[in-house]
Amino acid sequence: MYYKLLLVGVESFIDYSKIIGNNFLLCQGPGGNTSLKEEEYIYIKKSGKFLSNSNIDTFKKINYFEIENYYTHNKDKAVKFDNELSIEAPLHVFLKSKYVFHYHSISSIIISAINESTNLDNLLINNKIIPIKYIRPGIDLAREISLEKQKHNLDAYFLYNHGIVVEGNNKSKIMKRVRDIESFFNKFIDYKKLIKLNKTIQIFPNFKDKVKNPFPEINFDLYKGKYLFPDHSVFFPDFLTSKNVQKNNAAIHYDKDYIYLNKKLTNVESIYFKTLLLIYGLIGDKEIVNYINTNDGENLRKSDDELIRRRVNR
Ligand SMILES: [Zn+2]
Repeated sequence: MYYKLLLVGVESFIDYSKIIGNNFLLCQGPGGNTSLKEEEYIYIKKSGKFLSNSNIDTFKKINYFEIENYYTHNKDKAVKFDNELSIEAPLHVFLKSKYVFHYHSISSIIISAINESTNLDNLLINNKIIPIKYIRPGIDLAREISLEKQKHNLDAYFLYNHGIVVEGNNKSKIMKRVRDIESFFNKFIDYKKLIKLNKTIQIFPNFKDKVKNPFPEINFDLYKGKYLFPDHSVFFPDFLTSKNVQKNNAAIHYDKDYIYLNKKLTNVESIYFKTLLLIYGLIGDKEIVNYINTNDGENLRKSDDELIRRRVNR
């Protein structure tokens, strides 16, 4: 009987993870991860798995005391507790709540790209969301989040150029918090336009050779050299180049009618191409003030963890 109750707890956690994973505006491809602490265990999403397809095999069950002890005392960033785990695992370990949901909210990425942090930080704190400056995903980011938790004692975090973390002991309250945060973002961007664009972009035909340019008015060259979120640099590092300034064959070119792809995109590349089109469509000609520079983006892409993720998600 007790064992059955435990299973029900895990199953409903998986259901909630799936809901987050199936909302493209919150999770794209293998991005985003959730965790559950139950008894002496923690269940954390494995690297490369899709939250949208969550099942018991999506998560790794680990002794919580052992992994907490490991990440608290291990200063060596290169060594992971378990190779199957995502590089974002330490964040789930350092935050003590029963549930930790981390997702790559597209609206949060757009908002952090176009708003100066001096203004945005205050508005976030007033809404009980802790702003966290961009730090590459991994143990340093997890440490920063746990330090900020001690200062503010709130349950939600806005990770600049990355996404959101929400934690708590009640799953349905977390889901409400996720929805409330997204509606708060309505103050900063045209959320209705985002929803509409998402519907259009999701039914785009397969990405090969060329696609109709959905934003003929946009000068994509303005976005060059600016990675807007970590997976941008990992899974879709090519910037769009105007056809008349075309210099190298490797670049993706565009004119008013089409975006010319230089290869057939893989499933995961298509997902991030859609994500970028959505983001660019909302940013338009606004100035990008926060981004990951090419150097940091390339270092992230070449890191061992990300090489593994790319191998798993071709
Ligand atoms: Zn993340």
